[in-house]
Amino acid sequence: MKAMQLALDGEPDAEKAFFVADLSYVYGQHERWHKYLPGIEPFYAVKCNPDPYVLRLLAALGTGFDCASNGEISQVLRLGVDPSRIIYANPCKATSFIRGSAKAGVDMMTFDNTDELYKIARVHPAAKLIVRILTDDSKSLCRLGLKFGAPLMSVPALLVKAKELNLDVIGVSFHVGSGCYDSSAFADAVMRARAAFDMGREAGYEFTLLDVGGGFEDGTFEATASILTDAISRHFPNREALRIIAEPGRYYVSKAFSLAANVIARRAPPEPERGSQDVEVDPEQPSVMYYINDGVYGAFNCILFDHQTPQPYVLSLSGSFHVPASVPLRASSVWGPTCDSIDCVCSITQLPGTLQVGDWLAFDNMGAYTLCAASQFNGFEISNVIYTTGGGAGAAEVRRALKMFADEAVDV
Ligand code: PLP
Repeated sequence: MKAMQLALDGEPDAEKAFFVADLSYVYGQHERWHKYLPGIEPFYAVKCNPDPYVLRLLAALGTGFDCASNGEISQVLRLGVDPSRIIYANPCKATSFIRGSAKAGVDMMTFDNTDELYKIARVHPAAKLIVRILTDDSKSLCRLGLKFGAPLMSVPALLVKAKELNLDVIGVSFHVGSGCYDSSAFADAVMRARAAFDMGREAGYEFTLLDVGGGFEDGTFEATASILTDAISRHFPNREALRIIAEPGRYYVSKAFSLAANVIARRAPPEPERGSQDVEVDPEQPSVMYYINDGVYGAFNCILFDHQTPQPYVLSLSGSFHVPASVPLRASSVWGPTCDSIDCVCSITQLPGTLQVGDWLAFDNMGAYTLCAASQFNGFEISNVIYTTGGGAGAAEVRRALKMFADEAVDV
């Protein structure tokens, strides 16, 4: 697993940061899904992490895919997935993208406004439409309702318009917000979906599809599954003609990826400008700044876009992979490699005082909304992924992969 990038004069980026992806974890999450939500078909949200091996695995396992653009649709179709296993779950699409999905045979798509209906009627009249309704997302990390979802009171008029345009509306979707920590939001959303189904009947439709969206969290999954199952039984007692799908993203991949990053520089924080000798050192404030080779313009964009607070742990210390269980710690800050001061990975954390340039730090839970939005700002390449199939992507697995990687490429 050598670092592949050849830099100036053929000098390799030997310390390049890298992800360790445990595909068996993704498989395990799929099994867990079927155990607790057997009647709900997962359509993996590609946007969350379009890693080619994750997609290939999920395609082989038979999941569907939630795509937000023609780029994502193409990526999934190239895997040999049938277009009927794709939902174009973006309620606001460019006309040319709708035309593209018609050509590709992708029929299922969401809408939440009248203009979308006119566009679809013009370029994809055979589409199978799903009205995305607004639900309470106030308990979620990412409030998608700020941008998408028709309030229930606007649904009847939308459905009348759809009927007028001869469009086939087949069901209702919602998204309780990404990173939903309050499982009861799903119960409330199912209740609203029921009301939208009834509005469908009023408008002359017989809906057959309920899409319960994403927002599933690893830590609350079982509780959410139980609340969701109860709510569906209560509001949709007649399941015979009802297909239920979901669009989980982070649930599948968040814990499957860890990131190892190299300490490329170290310095003391700037002194206060005036009378520094009079200022007492505050032991709570960082006394050392570490610079690592991935940052908020790369994998750690999740700090800005996904409201995450990744915490580092030590993989190698003073050049050794044998990190003692307890070492004296110092208040430290961790920064990314770019020249921008917003590029701060951790404004304060406790790290060993003996951590040096060349040592490695690692971060767990780096699989969701990281790689997919990483940029190459300042000319820093996006971190590579090393794949494993067992043992979990946590410390032991990252250490194992790092040693393998280091043996071949890095002089630690
Ligand atoms: N479906 C849609 C329409 C989304 O916008 C998103 C996330 O933004 C998802 C599914 C995936 O959500 P999550 O990763 O929280 O499961």
